[in-house]
Amino acid sequence: MNNIIPNSVQKLIDEFAKLPGIGPKTASRLTFYLLHKSDQDVAELGKAVLALKEKIKKCPKCFNITDTDLCVICSDAKRDVSKIMVVESPLDVIALEKTAEYEGVYHVLGGAISPVDGIGPEDIRVKELLDRLGQDKISEIILATNPNLEGEATAMYIQKQIKSQLKDKKFKITRIARGLPVGGDLEYADEITLSRALEGRKEY
Ligand code: ZN
Repeated sequence: MNNIIPNSVQKLIDEFAKLPGIGPKTASRLTFYLLHKSDQDVAELGKAVLALKEKIKKCPKCFNITDTDLCVICSDAKRDVSKIMVVESPLDVIALEKTAEYEGVYHVLGGAISPVDGIGPEDIRVKELLDRLGQDKISEIILATNPNLEGEATAMYIQKQIKSQLKDKKFKITRIARGLPVGGDLEYADEITLSRALEGRKEY
């Protein structure tokens, strides 16, 4: 039997289906929805998708996403640069910023250590973090990786690396976790839970 779906339609369905949380049915629905939209609406969507990769880069200091040289947080003179909060992804930065509790800066690892998925310490930005900690004057480093197996392993690894490589540096290492659902993702926690987790951080 010939495929009755035209190639360009099938192509978009396939691309949508690769996105997280989108199954083949939703992928078809989105594609056929777009078929009925105006040329201008579809062009706007296409432009937005392209701009995502053309305009967005990583902040050279904290590795958060940015469309300016330094990200908005690193270039804000009011932020306390002596406090660094270590998170897994830019989505975590957005979630934590919503709490409006934290006035320090961030370090985005770009993932967590997960031997099952073949992700080792060298695949995330631990080295960049240690370099940064070695250079800057730091009072506290807050390990805010996800409260799941990978996040805990990552926090543990970073803590050990700091203790062995930056022995003479005197700063507090804290871990936020209290109140966060174990096994969960930071980005899905509500603002009140996140605020409490931040307030209740404990020395590691
Ligand atoms: Zn930055």
